[in-house]
Amino acid sequence: MRIDLHTHSSRSDGTESPRGLVLAAREARLDVVAITDHDTTAGWEEASATAAEVGIELVRGMELSTRHEGRSVHLLAYLTDPADADLLAETERVVAGRRDRVPALLRKLNDAGVELTAEDVDRATPPGAVTGRPHIADALVARGLVASREEAFATVLGPNGPGYVRRYATPLLDAIGMVARAGGVTVLAHPWARSSRAVLDAATLARLRDAGLLGLEVDHQDHDDAVRAELRAVARDLDLVVTGSSDWHGAGKADHELGCNTTDPEQYARLRNAARDAAAAAGRADEADEARR
Ligand code: AMP
Ligand code: ZN
Ligand code: FE
Ligand code: FE
Repeated sequence: MRIDLHTHSSRSDGTESPRGLVLAAREARLDVVAITDHDTTAGWEEASATAAEVGIELVRGMELSTRHEGRSVHLLAYLTDPADADLLAETERVVAGRRDRVPALLRKLNDAGVELTAEDVDRATPPGAVTGRPHIADALVARGLVASREEAFATVLGPNGPGYVRRYATPLLDAIGMVARAGGVTVLAHPWARSSRAVLDAATLARLRDAGLLGLEVDHQDHDDAVRAELRAVARDLDLVVTGSSDWHGAGKADHELGCNTTDPEQYARLRNAARDAAAAAGRADEADEARR
């Protein structure tokens, strides 16, 4: 069983459509793949239909933009009710924040002498996606101003770059609660990547578990072997589910090939069981629901 629980389509900042994502997952010989676009379920239907067509198991997820003690923290949310009003309103707020900062970001870039227009950015945003920094990076690449998304983030778009504009993100504890009330489960994405490790020490992870956090994405390209070993030990101590995933973005992120990290089937079974319990606790565990998942 090859299980990859973190991927992005062009409904956020990946380069392949939801259908293309699922076809690529089959090509990569995955048995289970999760679609986890940033703050949106827009790709779920197309991905589900393709998964049914090609006989691969799709897990419906999102990667939520949250903040904890001033730092950006990414939270994977799986198997939530896509119609849950609170979660929907919150993700819409995040998406609006991402979209609405673009004019200010372009002004700052222009002030810094980087000539990029709103039209450039529109051209770089696939239909149905919300413009995020990766699309602005693509626009910079198209203009020949940088060589890659990575270079764009390292020079102008990162937190210390001249084009940085802070946007809204959900407080982490609120997000964990909201996902539970929407019948889903939460796993911290790449928790010990450089940006978030400082605010996610073991004591904090214990508190987050007590607040409902289910798991930690231990096997991720942002974690080297030493970090993985240390984080795996913390997960064991805290009885948190351990996942491993690619964080694939199609051609949008180098060295994140589908299946480059995978999740142990037993850990995946724990996640599915927890999601069933969460759905029941949220009052939506009827047969039809289960069948739809
Ligand atoms: P935004 O949500 O618009 O603020 O953009 C943040 C997103 O950009 C993250 O969620 C990543 O998917 C992507 N990203 C962050 N750093 C990099 C990088 N160095 N190279 C490519 N993509 C990145
Ligand atoms: Zn992304
Ligand atoms: Fe992330
Ligand atoms: Fe991601």
